[in-house]
Amino acid sequence: MKKIVVSAVIGATMALSGGAAMADAKNPKIGFSIDDLRLERWARDRDYFTAEAEKLGAKVYVQSADASEQRQIAQIENLISRGVDVLVIVPYNATVLNNAVREAKKAKIKVVSYDRLILNADIDAYISFDNAKVGELQASTLVAIKPKGNYYLLGGAPTDNNAKILREGQLKVLQPLIDKGDIKVVGKQWTKDWSASEALAIVENALTANGNKIDAVVASNDATAGGAIQALAAQKLAGKVPVSGQDADLAAVKRVIAGTQAMTVYKPLKVIATEAARLSVKLVRNEAPAFNSSYNNGFKNVSTMLLAPVALTKANVNVLADDGFYTKAQLTAN
Ligand code: BGC
Repeated sequence: MKKIVVSAVIGATMALSGGAAMADAKNPKIGFSIDDLRLERWARDRDYFTAEAEKLGAKVYVQSADASEQRQIAQIENLISRGVDVLVIVPYNATVLNNAVREAKKAKIKVVSYDRLILNADIDAYISFDNAKVGELQASTLVAIKPKGNYYLLGGAPTDNNAKILREGQLKVLQPLIDKGDIKVVGKQWTKDWSASEALAIVENALTANGNKIDAVVASNDATAGGAIQALAAQKLAGKVPVSGQDADLAAVKRVIAGTQAMTVYKPLKVIATEAARLSVKLVRNEAPAFNSSYNNGFKNVSTMLLAPVALTKANVNVLADDGFYTKAQLTAN
């Protein structure tokens, strides 16, 4: 009897100390903390990630912070105390997780930054699509349609490091044309939480301020593109003013087919989610993942795996059906 009590206490202590000391390399425990599962793309990331992780023998605990930095911090702390071996985090706010990451590292838990880079923190790895390239694809598709004119830069969430990298990629294409005088940036904004309704209000105001003389809107993702196109439609300009996007959300792909959105960027989520699951399990097993890049996050150079995005216009939307991202029926339904 006494013996059982003692081992139970030892068990509890060991569980609390958590992390690598206890890491079960065969069946690792993964905590997946996602900014906001209410958005279409992240639910797909979760499903693909969980499927691959389970195939590798891992168990995944998923949490959605629903766009709250406080909730995300609390959920990460909870995952740490549950004794996960690795934390995979899609940060809501890139700059507020350094304490949470420090706690994880103290408990010997590996930390992977998923899609968005966590800044100023001692993370073990970063995996994402090449966001600078996404920005370049957005701008260059619009420039091919409107080589000259007034451009509006509709950025993503100011809390998301990707928003900044996307803007840098967009400007890589636009700056020479701005310098030449072909393109004039008539306004730029960041969109809180990547919200479609914020984007709608921003573009409404921009149209008013410029007497509707906007020739292209560089929207950084499909949610914000949706808001922008709604504002343009109210001025009978939808389809006349090209708008970019990102994610290949179903509504956006339909707008691309209908001609009201010029393009979107397809990022095969199965690839990032599958690679992230493999990478996370490798970190727990002390195996070396195949990194192909590195990002300085203000604390260190973070080993990074960057994946390739694909520009999608009406001409090649079929890629989505070929890839199984959508069925043909989904693409043709009204
Ligand atoms: C992601 C995009 C997404 C956006 C809003 C970005 O960090 O890279 O794919 O549209 O967040 O969730």
